[in-house]
Amino acid sequence: MDEDIICIGCGAILQSDDPQKAGYLPKSALEKAKNEENTDVYCQRCFKLRHYNEIMPVDLNNDDFLALLNSLAEKKALIVNVVDLFDFSNSLLSSLKRFVGNNDFILVGNKFDLFPKNSKQSKIKDWMRQEANRMGLYPKDIFLVSAKKKLNLESLISYINDQSQDKDVYFVGTTNVGKSTLINAIIDMMGDIQNLITTSRFPGTTLDQIEIPLENGHFLIDTPGIMTDNQLATHLDAKDLELISPKKPLKPATYQLLPGNTLFLAGLGRIDYLKGESTSFTVYVARNMYVHRTKTANADAFYEKHKGELLAPPSPDDKMAPLKGKEFKTEFKSDLLFGGIGFVTVPKGCLVKTYTPDSIGLGIRRALI
Ligand code: GDP
Repeated sequence: MDEDIICIGCGAILQSDDPQKAGYLPKSALEKAKNEENTDVYCQRCFKLRHYNEIMPVDLNNDDFLALLNSLAEKKALIVNVVDLFDFSNSLLSSLKRFVGNNDFILVGNKFDLFPKNSKQSKIKDWMRQEANRMGLYPKDIFLVSAKKKLNLESLISYINDQSQDKDVYFVGTTNVGKSTLINAIIDMMGDIQNLITTSRFPGTTLDQIEIPLENGHFLIDTPGIMTDNQLATHLDAKDLELISPKKPLKPATYQLLPGNTLFLAGLGRIDYLKGESTSFTVYVARNMYVHRTKTANADAFYEKHKGELLAPPSPDDKMAPLKGKEFKTEFKSDLLFGGIGFVTVPKGCLVKTYTPDSIGLGIRRALI
């Protein structure tokens, strides 16, 4: 007899007729499930959620998302903004200040594994705190973690366990900061609650969020990632994103520069050294990223000739705005920031012009190393 089988994730009756409807499972998988006894079966959607935490990213101005953020101010909640340490200013959600209310809010800086081995955690946290304060955000605590390498997760988990005794914990972040990887790592380390991931909609909206029940009756809530135009990740195709994303701790590469010299970071970054002494610039980017030194006088022509091939990514297929520059003068030893790519350390007393497509991700900070 053909019995109905129910998805153990969402409770929908499994069907293979309409991929758009609840409980969909491809025919072959459904047949297989019907022929096996006592199997726990997920519909395709719950399976994906369970394994990849796939929820659709949204725009920060999405009405449903704003409503969700608004509702946080009225609830008792802990808000966790996951940020990418290599694209910090673009992943810090400055708009959160409108929504935090009386709630506690913490910053979790992810991808710490990529920082050079000799980096001081206290310096990185000080910098994060200053930047957050400058944007009007006052995090109660700051954690530096690697979701991928499962570094420093114990203290974050113990903080969450503590805080979730009387409130739910909401994870928010822009896309590509590693929020899914982090939540999966936390669930994994918390143990056997991992089979309980379910998805639910925020009441009255079409917005998905994932609620992970905790033993204490409260929830970890994964909200959709927010897409912003200020992230390189939004503009690059998957292959190019893979190429510029460092996999191993950044290793310094030093270039001796004179004023009148230019460095290209593939086709995505450029530094013109305008004024200062002959000095060394230390580049921290993915190991396989092409860095090229040339004379500033020839730089435009070189770029026009080689963009998309020697100077790639971006590949000709990526829809990328032209390079646009910003001048910086270093008052002390500083890191020139190229959000999503890496940074370049220069001594004090240098006048430089740095470029990225449409100037996205450009910035400067006191040198961390
Ligand atoms: P989400 O969009 O915020 O959910 O981000 P994902 O979890 O999909 O991760 C985005 C990218 O960052 C993926 O390529 C991950 O492999 C990578 N990633 C996530 N966490 C880490 C980490 O701790 N270190 C490093 N190096 N990469 C990470």
